[in-house]
Amino acid sequence: CGIVGYIGKREAYPIILNGLKRLEYRGYDSAGIALFDGTDIQLCKTKGKVADLEAKAEREIILKGNLGIGHTRWATHGVPNDVNSHPHYSNSGDLVIIHNGIIENYDSLKKELKKRGYTFTSDTDTEVLVNLIEDIQINEKVKLGKAVQIALNQVVGAYAIALFDRKKPDEIVVAKLGSPLAIGIGEDEFFVASDASPFIEFTNNAIYLEDEEMAIIRLGRDVKVRKIKGDKLV
Ligand code: GLU
Repeated sequence: CGIVGYIGKREAYPIILNGLKRLEYRGYDSAGIALFDGTDIQLCKTKGKVADLEAKAEREIILKGNLGIGHTRWATHGVPNDVNSHPHYSNSGDLVIIHNGIIENYDSLKKELKKRGYTFTSDTDTEVLVNLIEDIQINEKVKLGKAVQIALNQVVGAYAIALFDRKKPDEIVVAKLGSPLAIGIGEDEFFVASDASPFIEFTNNAIYLEDEEMAIIRLGRDVKVRKIKGDKLV
C-alpha cells in the first residue's frame, strides 16, 4: 500500500502515476487518483493494478491539475472493489482523502456521524475519518489543519494520510502514525509519498515525518510540521 501527492506548477498526473508504479513493491489490491485544477476535482479508482488505473483514468477523466493525490490500497475494512478504493470524498464533496493503515474505532465514530446525518458510500474506515474531519471543520469553525489535528486525537489506530480541500487549492495536509510518510521539498512545489522513490528525481530535500506528526503543506510557504497530540495546536 502506498501514498503519493503533488502540489506545484507541473501537471500532477504523470508524477502521481509514476509514483504509484514505484510504490507497487509495497503490495496492494486497488489503486486510485484524484486531480484538482483549482475548480474541478477528477477522481478515478479501481480494483486491480496501477496499469488498470492508468487505462481507466485515460479513458474516463480529464488528466489536468497541479494538485494530485494517489493511492494503492491493501484492504483492511471493506472488500477490494472500486467503491472501497481510495481516494474518498467527504459528504460535502469538498474534502478528498487517501489513507494507509487502520482506524480501529471507526465503528463508534461512524455511528456518531450517522446520528449527525452523515451517509457513507463505502465500507472503509477511511471514509469515516474524512467525514469526522469535515464535521469538526464545520462545527468548530476551524481551518483544515486544525480539524485534522482534532480528529486524529479522537482516532485509535495507525495511519499515513494526505488530504486536500476544494476550498483551499494551494494546500495539502498530511499526518503519520505507524505508516511511513515523506515530504519532498522542491522549488515552488511539494511532493508527498510513502518513501522518497516517487520524488527522488525532482528533489533530494526531504522531511520524514515522525510518528504522531502532521504537516500543513502550502504553496509559497514553508512546510509546517506539528505534533498531533501536542498542546500547540496548528
Ligand atoms: N484501512 C483502509 C482501507 O481498508 C486503508 C488500507 C490501506 O492501508 O491501504 O481502505
